[in-house]
Amino acid sequence: MGEQVVTPYSVSARNGAVDYARIVSDFGCKLIDPQLIQRLEKLTNKPAHPFLRRGIFFAHRDLESILDAYEQGHKFFLYTGRGPSSESLHLGHLVQFMFTKYLQDAFDVPLVIQLSDDEKFIWKDISQEECQRLGRNNAKDIISCGFRLERTFIFSNLDYVSGALFDNVLTISSFLSSNAMSAVFGLNAETDVLGKLLYPAVQIAPAFSTSFDDVFGEGIKMRCLIPCAIDQDPYFRLSRDLAPRLKLYKPALIESRFLPSIEAGDGSGKMSASSPNSAIFVTDTLEEIKQKLAGAAVESVLAYLTFFEENDAVLEEMKADFSSGKRSLEDLKNDLSKVLWEVLENLQQLKAEVDDKILSEFMRPRLIR
Ligand code: ATP
Repeated sequence: MGEQVVTPYSVSARNGAVDYARIVSDFGCKLIDPQLIQRLEKLTNKPAHPFLRRGIFFAHRDLESILDAYEQGHKFFLYTGRGPSSESLHLGHLVQFMFTKYLQDAFDVPLVIQLSDDEKFIWKDISQEECQRLGRNNAKDIISCGFRLERTFIFSNLDYVSGALFDNVLTISSFLSSNAMSAVFGLNAETDVLGKLLYPAVQIAPAFSTSFDDVFGEGIKMRCLIPCAIDQDPYFRLSRDLAPRLKLYKPALIESRFLPSIEAGDGSGKMSASSPNSAIFVTDTLEEIKQKLAGAAVESVLAYLTFFEENDAVLEEMKADFSSGKRSLEDLKNDLSKVLWEVLENLQQLKAEVDDKILSEFMRPRLIR
């Protein structure tokens, strides 16, 4: 199989196995070491999330600076997002929001969530109205993860990119050449539509607090921490290069591995909404989960257990029993469907309570600082 490619628009791996050590060295981010995790636990007075303990969130940029500032009493804000390309989130997206919720609770900080419906309009054959509808539906999944209304603002780019945010988008775009965009994102400046070249500025701008004068207060300068999978790194590498020119803080990142696709080994390194057979969606029933897992690769089953079985001892026992032959792959799949259903059933119950009124509240610009 060909070379490994990891950009926000394409993840392909040699023989389906992503080489994370190579990404870290190519991208120039840092590994999260045990000392950093200990420091985080000490500062938040909470045990580290299993995603941290298990090396799922494994890399970062400038997390130390965020912790230094926090220790001195300076708060930061969290920024993450979703490009609504499907009716609902899949488990890979859920990983991001579960972890973001842990960070919001552990540090008690505000959070902005971008719905990049504009991006999906440019990249996919979907109307703007449909992208917005998908975005609102995805936002209900996101809210069911338990985010606190008084600390959380969710925005649709099609609705909200104006005012201070648009000022920053424009300033950022004035620093970026088409050639640089092509090189960083694997685009073609000659043949790709203009919207693809412009979009990165729209994803970069919310990493700066001055984009949100109605949410943080006018001109407020706050540090930003971005939880995301490592494919999003190119946007924020750029944001960090631009920060000194904007006289703003460099955004920091905390970055995860990918949840693999169900069948793995298919050349794509990650579960993706763009290939629905690769994905378990948060709206799936127990029956659907079982059906999808029937064709799952061993490595995906083990990976999903590592992501979603919260209890360390139970997880170790499952893995050990599988290695020794005491548990078959069928047994593991049964265990896994129970583990996943517990997470999804709870989420689906919470989503049933998220009506349009609650959604509108989360999407109403208001101070969350
Ligand atoms: P998809 O093709 O599935 O829609 P995407 O990368 O376009 O994938 P986004 O909505 O842009 O999806 O991503 C939202 C967040 O979820 C980003 O931080 C992205 O890196 C992360 N993400 C997407 N797929 C996975 C995955 N399989 N495992 C872990 N994180 C993922």
